[in-house]
Amino acid sequence: MQAFKQPQKKRDKTVTIVGGGLAGLTLAILLNRGGFDVTVVEKKVYPFHRVCGEYISNEVLPLLIKIGIHPSDYGASSIQKLAVSSPSGRIFRTTLDLGGFGLSRFHLDQLMFEQAKREGVQFLLGLKANNIVFSDNNFTTSLSNHSDLISSYVISAHGKRSNLDKHRAFFSKRSPYLGVKYHIKADLPRDLIQLDNFEGGYCGTVKIEQDKYCLCYLTKTDNLKRAGSLEEMEKNILSRNPFLKHCFTEAEFIYDKPEVINEISFAVKSLIEDHVLFCGDSAGMISPLCGNGMAIAIHSAKILADLLCKYHLSPRSRLEQAYKQAWNNEFRRRLQFGRQVQKLFGKNILSEFAVSTLNISPSLAEIIIKKTHGRPF
Ligand SMILES: Cc1cc2nc3c(=O)[nH]c(=O)nc-3n(C[C@H](O)[C@H](O)[C@H](O)COP(=O)(O)OP(=O)(O)OC[C@H]3O[C@@H](n4cnc5c(N)ncnc54)[C@H](O)[C@@H]3O)c2cc1C
Repeated sequence: MQAFKQPQKKRDKTVTIVGGGLAGLTLAILLNRGGFDVTVVEKKVYPFHRVCGEYISNEVLPLLIKIGIHPSDYGASSIQKLAVSSPSGRIFRTTLDLGGFGLSRFHLDQLMFEQAKREGVQFLLGLKANNIVFSDNNFTTSLSNHSDLISSYVISAHGKRSNLDKHRAFFSKRSPYLGVKYHIKADLPRDLIQLDNFEGGYCGTVKIEQDKYCLCYLTKTDNLKRAGSLEEMEKNILSRNPFLKHCFTEAEFIYDKPEVINEISFAVKSLIEDHVLFCGDSAGMISPLCGNGMAIAIHSAKILADLLCKYHLSPRSRLEQAYKQAWNNEFRRRLQFGRQVQKLFGKNILSEFAVSTLNISPSLAEIIIKKTHGRPF
């Protein structure tokens, strides 16, 4: 565990962070180290499960290690290979240059939370932020069942969709996507992330800590409506892919019921509204197919924390301009490309074609990975 020395300088700046996912927790740790007085508001209580494929690109390793978290110490798997199957079971295999690791969000988020708490970050858990108002150069964040929080900055790292998004343009547009996650025990490769396509969606499977695997899929709500229930959909639609049939018939499913979320939107979002700074999925979400949302959440938090440390004595507009520029430089194109890749999968003919094309030109896979991933930071 990394010894951490609290900064000596006077804590004259206060930050409220709404949302304690990977973006919020990374920000909390880095800003606290930078001498800010940080309070995180998280509506749930750690540890808890989230819908997520739980494959994390090694891009994040240098920063996680600086934070004091070595994933391999906690049983994370090391992933160096990728396989993509088409709905009929045609398969493309490749090795991953940078690779990644598998670790449950239950575990990873808890580790980050414990680290932040040890270093002096304050947490308000089980409380929901309902409203944020900027006035007289300060923010007032109202919470349910708690007094208001006053701070110099608010960072909203509230994830892909939240009550705080009600006024944002993307919120009123219905999104057809649904995410489902299980932890399973199965006889599967330990160093591989596999993406299996099926009519109307795709499913990722990856080894995580202990002897468990994460199985997580994204599909359209229409698929569920047609099938009538998750169980019927898994039996009659997902299991037409022979790899998924093997998982659904042979694996031991650990939860009584899966984690499920709906209304997953990949829409373009604003980065700053009324001086509230958005970070992680609340600023924009990459298609899960690219397997890089967590790295983007952590990286965007690092960028914002560095800029806040640099510009907190400058006019607010200086910080906001620098954040917009840095975020767009690093992520805008990746998210755009991710939206195009997302369109290729979930349709039988297109995903059969995509897998055949990858087999004919394996370098295409490298290009896709390069365009949707960044470098270690
Ligand atoms: C199906 C699916 C599979 C995925 N698979 C992968 C993968 O394999 N690899 C990968 O890298 N990425 C994956 N992702 C993406 C990844 O999960 C996200 O990009 C990442 O979790 C974003 O982190 P975040 O901190 O921005 O948001 P989150 O982790 O969602 O955290 C937001 C937090 O805010 C809290 N919150 C929300 N509103 C409020 C409020 N009003 N008050 C208080 N708290 C609030 C929530 O409870 C939550 O804890 C996947 C996503 C989906 C949907």
